[in-house]
Amino acid sequence: MNDKVYILIQKLAKAHSLSLSEYIYLIENRNEEAAKRLAGLAVDVRKKIYKNAVFIRGLIEISNICKNDCLYCGIRRSNKNCDRYRLTHEEILACAEEGYLLGFRTFVLQGGEDGYFTDDILCKIIKSLKSHYPKCAITLSMGERSAKSYKKLYDAGADRYLLRHETADKNHYEKLHPPDMSFEHRMECLNELKKIGYQTGCGFMVGSPYQTSQTLAEDLKFIEVFQPDMCGIGPFIPHKDTPFKENKAGTVELTCYLLSIIRLICPSVLLPSTTALGTIHPFGRELGIQAGANVVMPNLSPSSVRKKYELYNDKICTGAESAQAIDSLKQRMSAIGYEIVTDRGDRKNI
Ligand code: SAM
Repeated sequence: MNDKVYILIQKLAKAHSLSLSEYIYLIENRNEEAAKRLAGLAVDVRKKIYKNAVFIRGLIEISNICKNDCLYCGIRRSNKNCDRYRLTHEEILACAEEGYLLGFRTFVLQGGEDGYFTDDILCKIIKSLKSHYPKCAITLSMGERSAKSYKKLYDAGADRYLLRHETADKNHYEKLHPPDMSFEHRMECLNELKKIGYQTGCGFMVGSPYQTSQTLAEDLKFIEVFQPDMCGIGPFIPHKDTPFKENKAGTVELTCYLLSIIRLICPSVLLPSTTALGTIHPFGRELGIQAGANVVMPNLSPSSVRKKYELYNDKICTGAESAQAIDSLKQRMSAIGYEIVTDRGDRKNI
């Protein structure tokens, strides 16, 4: 590793901040040694805060119907080959019941921007989940809504909201999204969520089309300034029915490198080792945890719909990715020295 990379890593670990040009340098001059050094520091700082705990979230994919047409996404509106579904209130409750018995204490309701899920309908679902499982956290990941809507859902009992910013570079954002979506609105939503009091998550895909070290550096700077409670990053993986079907997938190597950097920027952030990372590498989830992640989100959706929530090709949804296989996940985490814990897994204030 060259001296400058070494110095930048030390600076990041100490100050939790670098300039844009320093982030670019760190990305462009990375090698195995630098990645090891970053991961070592990231794991140390994470262990100081969370010991060897890995938090689990039960992911319930409530609908693959979406009004948006994001160019990278397999459930985009114009994908006519997507077999659409929507879970009922009862089905969502049944997933949570199964998840609760398996030890999950956070439920993540994720879906496309499906107009069926009005505030009234979502509030009813949130309230019944909260009445059955008052000690569990509810995370929503339902895309862009109005400030009023976010507030209603929060007042109904939602605790957390995941809304990846996708990219902190407006130009890049516009290459990934159709003209009826706006970078400014995405950012306004994130600010609003935080203001309301949600534990808020942002994030981006690694290796998305047109991404550069400059746009990645902007993502890191955004994370540094926004100080999210959660940050979801995973490799971009092409989907055969999207305009980006010929693009290359992001790599495990760069995803892990960035996970370590993000852990050093925000030491106590809740950082998932994502399904996408597990999809492109058989030990992707383990590699993410060893780079500094501390959350995994097994799939609790009914098995009949899991394949239909296909954001990208070959998404894993059985094996250790399935909530039902929690024992196998526990073993895999324990094999690398980590322990799956059964609690809400809130962010620690340090
Ligand atoms: N509609 C909600 C939203 O926009 O936040 C939640 C669902 S959306 C499908 C969840 C995330 O999936 C997106 O934020 C995006 O980063 C990720 N995603 C979509 N297509 C992907 C792909 N081809 N490869 C990797 N991740 C993808």
